[in-house]
Amino acid sequence: MIKGNKDHAALADIFNQDEARVDWHDETLWFVRAKRDKAANTLSEWEALRENASQIKDNVLSNLHDYLSEFESNAQQNGVIVHWAADAAEHNQIVLSILKSKEISRMVKSKSMLTEECHLNEYLHQNGVEVIDTDLGERIVQLAEEPPSHIVLPCIHKKKEEIGELFHEHLGTPKGASDPQLLTAAARVHLREKFLTRRAAITGVNFAIAETGEFVVCTNEGNADMGAHLSEVHIACMGIEKIIPKRANLSVFLRLLARSATGQPITTYSSHFRTPRKGQEMHLILVDNGRTQQLGRADFRNSLKCIRCGACMNTCPVYRRSGGHSYHTAIAGPIGAILAPNLNMKQYADLPFASTLCGSCTNVCPVKINIHEQLYKWRQVIVKEGYADPKKTIAMKAMEFTLSHPYIYRNAGKSGRWVMKNMPFLVNNKLNAWYTQRDMPAPPQQSFREWYKKNNNE
Ligand code: SF4
Repeated sequence: MIKGNKDHAALADIFNQDEARVDWHDETLWFVRAKRDKAANTLSEWEALRENASQIKDNVLSNLHDYLSEFESNAQQNGVIVHWAADAAEHNQIVLSILKSKEISRMVKSKSMLTEECHLNEYLHQNGVEVIDTDLGERIVQLAEEPPSHIVLPCIHKKKEEIGELFHEHLGTPKGASDPQLLTAAARVHLREKFLTRRAAITGVNFAIAETGEFVVCTNEGNADMGAHLSEVHIACMGIEKIIPKRANLSVFLRLLARSATGQPITTYSSHFRTPRKGQEMHLILVDNGRTQQLGRADFRNSLKCIRCGACMNTCPVYRRSGGHSYHTAIAGPIGAILAPNLNMKQYADLPFASTLCGSCTNVCPVKINIHEQLYKWRQVIVKEGYADPKKTIAMKAMEFTLSHPYIYRNAGKSGRWVMKNMPFLVNNKLNAWYTQRDMPAPPQQSFREWYKKNNNE
């Protein structure tokens, strides 16, 4: 979700105002990251699994057209109605037209980052359709009228006391109640009524198997199954990159997904949908929305291997201390910062700069996406295309000039050291972004060049 004209740094500043929340957010996500490490370390074949997954996805990306065609024809033979959407607008229109054809104006939806990417909820709402998110985290952010801040843990930025307040206001739980068990029980009662009374359900898709035309949805709450099984119309929405060739490939991804996401051996529910049950209509929408464009960008194409585990977010020191909303796009964190500029380079030009390029994201990625290298690559493309922050461009030009003129470089260094020593207030002030969070280092007595000259008798 776009938040005005604010960029990542400005939105991170807002998140950083509540220091206690930042510390807690940081620690909570690091806890999940540590669980991921423990789970990965229990498998001696972990690296082989990652390599295997990466190669399967390489094959998919090189033969995407063939696998999609195979998947479509098998799904149609299974009785599924297959739709194709070139972009978010077409996807949303297809969903609405299915609902309209059945005169349905209230529905349930399980977690699907694709529908977040397409802003489906807002679109349906504007067209008179009520959508209830049934994933507990998604329902919480929906009640708070906020977008999810994490792809696996949508309300990780909220404390249980805040959730208690929301539930008190919307679900009538006692004021001040923040016991997770009590709140979960209240949510269960609230959602059960929705499952039983809504005629249509939307689910996402984690993996679509070309060989069989079936698709697999992974959840920990079973809410996708509840929605899909109780509804007359099941609409599944998937990005075209979710294809895998064979059922035999699935085990590789299922073993990697939950371990990378939350440190669990497997998600609680891995549900296979193949044919609609008697009397039910099953629709599947295959969405491009910029994916083929990304496929055509050689440096960024393998970002399409992403299985949306969220591990890169949990480990990212920037994400953990800036919060998911600072990325102002549906998919936050390091992978979101690669995917978003593909959709709109100008609007998301800030995101590839929201990284330390430490490489931790690349190290944890279960499908071996070279995330930090792609972020670095995006920076070069963005600067070249003229979308970089003008302040940064001017600063870089000044730096280029200084570094290419040794005399100016020497004098600039000397002046800088003198200012830091004699007039520290000129650098230790709030106009200096570096000083906001850190102390400025003490200026050295001499430059390296001076030291070298002295110690090497030049
Ligand atoms: S880029 Fe890799 S680590 Fe990040 S969400 Fe995707 S699969 Fe997971």
